[in-house]
Amino acid sequence: MLSLYSPRLSARSALILAAILVCCWVGDGPVCAQSYTTSKLADGFDYPVGKPNGDGYYIFRGFSPNGHLGEDWNGNGGGNTDEGDPVYSIAHGVVVFSEDYARGWGNVVILRHAYREKNGQIAFIDSLYGHLKVRSVKVGQQITRGQVLGTIGRGPYRMYAAHLHFEIRKDLRVGMRRELYPQTYETYYTPKQFIDPRRSLRLEDRTVRIPINTFLKSNPNRLTTDVIDLPEVTPDGETVRPVVPEQLEMVIEEETQTEVATPEKSRTLFEKFLEKVSTPQ
Ligand SMILES: [Zn+2]
Repeated sequence: MLSLYSPRLSARSALILAAILVCCWVGDGPVCAQSYTTSKLADGFDYPVGKPNGDGYYIFRGFSPNGHLGEDWNGNGGGNTDEGDPVYSIAHGVVVFSEDYARGWGNVVILRHAYREKNGQIAFIDSLYGHLKVRSVKVGQQITRGQVLGTIGRGPYRMYAAHLHFEIRKDLRVGMRRELYPQTYETYYTPKQFIDPRRSLRLEDRTVRIPINTFLKSNPNRLTTDVIDLPEVTPDGETVRPVVPEQLEMVIEEETQTEVATPEKSRTLFEKFLEKVSTPQ
C-alpha cells in the first residue's frame, strides 16, 4: 500500500504551515496580511543628479548582471568635485529605508515608487541611493519628484572617490540583502533603461496603495506608522498588489540557514578584502 505519510515531508510541511499560521495571526506578514501605506502615483522619472536630466554628470560605471547592480554617477568635474552635491528623488514615492549601513555602503536611502505601466497596470519599484554624505529623509516620509534626499558622498571612511551608487529594483524584497536574490534582470532594472522611456507619464494626480515592510525580518527600517490594511482591490476594481513574496517558505528557509544568510562568515578576512577591492558598490 502506498504510504502517504513521510516523517521528513510532514515535519517540513508542519513548519511551513506554522509559519503561515503565525504570519496570519500576527497580521504583519508580507504575504498573508500585506501592509500598505499610500503614495502619490509617479508622473514620471528623472535622474537622481543634475536635476532633472542628469546635466553635469555621467555614468562612470554601468549596470552588469551578477556584477555591478547599479550605476555609478559622477560629476563631469571628476575626482571629488561632486562631493556634497544634492541627490534627488527620481519620482514621487515613500522612504522605505534610510540608514548608515556599514559594509561598504555608508548612508543609504531607498524609496518606493508606484507608477502606471503602458499596459495600464500599476507597478512598483525601489530606487536606492548609496554612499551618501548626508541623508535628509527618514523612513515613512512621503517624497515628491525632485526632492533632495541627501548629498553625494564617498562611502564609509571616505573609501571611494565621491559618486552616487544608484539602483532600481523591481523585486521589493531585496532591501540590503542583495545576496539572497538573483543579481539579474529578474530583480533589477538598468536604471537608465528604466528611466529613459518613463520620463513623462500620464499626469493622474492620484494616491495609491504602496506595499511596505516587504524586506526580510532581518532588514531594519520597518515602518511602524501610517500602516494601513486594505482589501486586495481598490474600489474601482483595480488590483494594486505587486508580485511580492510568492515563495515565502523559501525565503524563511533561506533566512534561517545561517550559512546562506551570512555567507561572509565562511570567507577569510583576506578573501573579504579581495572581494571589497575588486567589487566596490
Ligand atoms: Zn556602484
